[in-house]
Amino acid sequence: RAKHLGRNGCQFHSEAVNAQAFERLALENALRNAVEQDQFLLHYQPIFDVKSGRPVAVEALLRWRHPEVGVVAPNQFLALAEETGMIVSIGRWVFEQACRQVKLWRDSGHADLRLHINLSSRQLRQPDLIEVVAGALEVSQLPPQALVLEVLESCVVDKAFDPSSLFARFAALGVGLAIDEFGSGYSSFAFLRRLPVTILKVAQGFVRNLSNSEDESEIVTAIVALARGLHMTVVAPGIENKAQLDLLTGFGCDKVQGFLLSKPQAAAEMTGFLADKRLPAALSPWSAS
Ligand code: C2E
Ligand code: MG
Ligand code: MG
Repeated sequence: RAKHLGRNGCQFHSEAVNAQAFERLALENALRNAVEQDQFLLHYQPIFDVKSGRPVAVEALLRWRHPEVGVVAPNQFLALAEETGMIVSIGRWVFEQACRQVKLWRDSGHADLRLHINLSSRQLRQPDLIEVVAGALEVSQLPPQALVLEVLESCVVDKAFDPSSLFARFAALGVGLAIDEFGSGYSSFAFLRRLPVTILKVAQGFVRNLSNSEDESEIVTAIVALARGLHMTVVAPGIENKAQLDLLTGFGCDKVQGFLLSKPQAAAEMTGFLADKRLPAALSPWSAS
């Protein structure tokens, strides 16, 4: 009977599902191994202050150095890390590693450099998140004021989870909070006001479409106005060309980030980048000559 079924689409479909399940299992095992074998690394992408043109923060971005595949980007494995809960141990490693690194940079002449770390929704629900963050700050001696947590707008508006008490505890600790991909979802302004958020990061999609759509310009202008009213700063990420940079600074964005200014780099390269007093060419109009 099974043989007979094998000739029809149903069996074929279930084979495809099996193959998928197998792939997932293989990835899951490899990921579990990666935690134990220390295969993760961080890249850092600077965030520049528009007025001074200087890098004022770095965003830590997770990478997985797979022994056969090479360096893997987070969109290839974050969903699975979330589902399996592995993001909790990976996230702990990210906090420890990044805090230690940024403390080193602050001690070597970049005294005001801040660190942005991304949090996923699973991490927000992690009962000991505060302890993990406070612990990493303590061990590294990085002051809480140097740390900014980036939370996706979609996590903040999630009906099943109210982040306000968690955010209040982070704020009490002195840690800054940023909403990432802002404008992509439906966070009400009233809701935003109740949260101790200090930074809005414009959704990258708006930046991408700036030059060929008036709507995006209107939206970014509105985000800047909103941020002004709520005493928040605006970071414009994903800037790839000079036209985008000029438009976004013209709209009043306070900080800028993107491939045009610097790609994410490994710690050693970032050390050289920070030590180099020259600014990215695209930012020269703002440099204090
Ligand atoms: P994100 O926080 O929105 O980070 C920005 C992403 O855009 C990064 O991708 C960055 O490499 C990329 N990017 C930066 N500048 C440009 C640009 O000018 N143009 C374009 N096209 N892309 C640019 P990446 O590193 O692949 O990270 C993807 C996402 O994975 C991040 O999005 C963040 O949500 C998540 N993620 C990264 N690291 C971590 C981590 O340590 N923990 C958690 N929970 N999530 C992380
Ligand atoms: Mg981010
Ligand atoms: Mg983004």
